[in-house]
Amino acid sequence: LPIHDAVLARPAAAHPDEVALVDGAGDLTLTYGQLDTYHRRIAAALAEAGLRKGDVLALHSPNTVAYPVVFYAATRAGAAVTTVHPLATPEELAKQLRDSSARWIVTVSPLLSVARRAAELAGGVAEIFVCDEAPGHRSVLDMLGCTAPEPAVTIDPDEDLAALPYSSGTTGVPKGVMLTHRSIATNLAQLEPTIPMGRGDRVLAVLPFFHIYGLTALMNAPLRQGATVVVLPRFALDQFLAAIEKHRINALYVAPPIVLALAKHPAVERYDLSSLEYVVSAAAPLDARLADACSTRLGLPPVRQAYGMTELSPGTHVVPLDATDPPPGTVGRLLPNTEMRLLSLDDPAEDAAPGEEGEIAIRGPQVMKGYLGRPDATAAMIDSDGWVHTGDVGRVDEDGWLFIVDRVKELIKYKGFQVAPAELEALLLTHESVADAAVIGVYDGDGNEVPKAYVVRQPGANDLSGDDIIAFVAGKVAPYKKIRRVEFIEGVPRAASGKILRRELREREGA
Ligand code: ATP
Ligand code: MG
Repeated sequence: LPIHDAVLARPAAAHPDEVALVDGAGDLTLTYGQLDTYHRRIAAALAEAGLRKGDVLALHSPNTVAYPVVFYAATRAGAAVTTVHPLATPEELAKQLRDSSARWIVTVSPLLSVARRAAELAGGVAEIFVCDEAPGHRSVLDMLGCTAPEPAVTIDPDEDLAALPYSSGTTGVPKGVMLTHRSIATNLAQLEPTIPMGRGDRVLAVLPFFHIYGLTALMNAPLRQGATVVVLPRFALDQFLAAIEKHRINALYVAPPIVLALAKHPAVERYDLSSLEYVVSAAAPLDARLADACSTRLGLPPVRQAYGMTELSPGTHVVPLDATDPPPGTVGRLLPNTEMRLLSLDDPAEDAAPGEEGEIAIRGPQVMKGYLGRPDATAAMIDSDGWVHTGDVGRVDEDGWLFIVDRVKELIKYKGFQVAPAELEALLLTHESVADAAVIGVYDGDGNEVPKAYVVRQPGANDLSGDDIIAFVAGKVAPYKKIRRVEFIEGVPRAASGKILRRELREREGA
């Protein structure tokens, strides 16, 4: 089924009057019936405006109630939606527009000047629509009055693209990831038994829809399963906590920085979070101790982790909600119809020895079609047997639980040993005076790569010194993993998905 039908057909028929979407800040709500009707009218209006099957539409907006309506309208009209970071500069947006050959932009009036400038820079954009109102631009709201017939497009789920998200750009330039209707819809079906969110569940869409994690866990999956999605345009701790209280949210899908805030921030005490039933974290490494501090403080079962990447639509591993005793720190078990191998870090042609760490390789129906316009990068990622080489190092225990060590390329090579920055970062966060931390490898005078920590002090912890940090870690790890340099900073650079941008720290080092 095409993605709009895979998501909407069931809830729109079964319970059209249930609330699908709520604007977390205001009072706007949308029922499943409205969502279904509205996206069809907008699809018709987009077709009338000239959108054709195979066109790319750039969705340039923070999370709003309109976001999914426009997304499904565009796919129904036959377009592939390229989702854009709402904080993109005109140059960044122009790059994505050019790279994806986008012909249409849907934006919101506060971002209109960026969209206009980007369209000028990129060329090839036929029209810019807005979700709200802006002089000179057609509004999606007006499209609701469209009486034209629905576009008669036939979608081939195996070939046609539904979405063209860009990878986070943590390790390099963001790449356009070609996801078909089939790969996205299949992944939703694979995820559903492990994390059921049905009618009556209330999910808080605080992670951005433009990233594959938010798009799946906060938009496609909960809508497909008939939950209510409360939409927040951005993360701000107090608004986030207030929204949980006000909307009686029971399911939280977050990334590690939010788990950190829930575990450590004093503001958490000021809100009634008793409606929460579970927390899922994904997109970046989450330490078991931090996860535990979060669930203990909130009085919840262990934080459930999941693992995936844009190229995998995105999920491959999930800790099922009903798992009674998942081992601390695991990112989950392999989803159905998905295969995994761990490749030897010394020789990728070989499998790693049982129980050993290796590079995670994945095969399954959720694998992307390829990177847009980058056959070389695609070939480097997907081998001739269809295995995706994820670039992540993992280990599997006897019961099949996967643990992520770090990215292959981030491992610090200290005198022949491999040190995972993620392990040291997690350890640093257990220090009561450390608010946040990041670790990279830097070169010492002798040409050795050594671990360096960037540390954010807790408010008031001004006497925390670099030597304190070094001594704290030295007592807890093997000697080759010791932190050997420390710098205090105001904040750790992170991508929107919560990942530490270690390359920005490396650039600061001039390395
Ligand atoms: P780019 O590929 O452009 O450098 P990126 O890999 O960060 O960016 P995404 O597709 O958003 O882009 O992220 C996928 C990566 O996120 C995975 O390869 C993995 O490194 C990391 N990741 C996802 N889930 C987890 C998790 N539960 N624990 C640790 N790391 C995770
Ligand atoms: Mg990646």
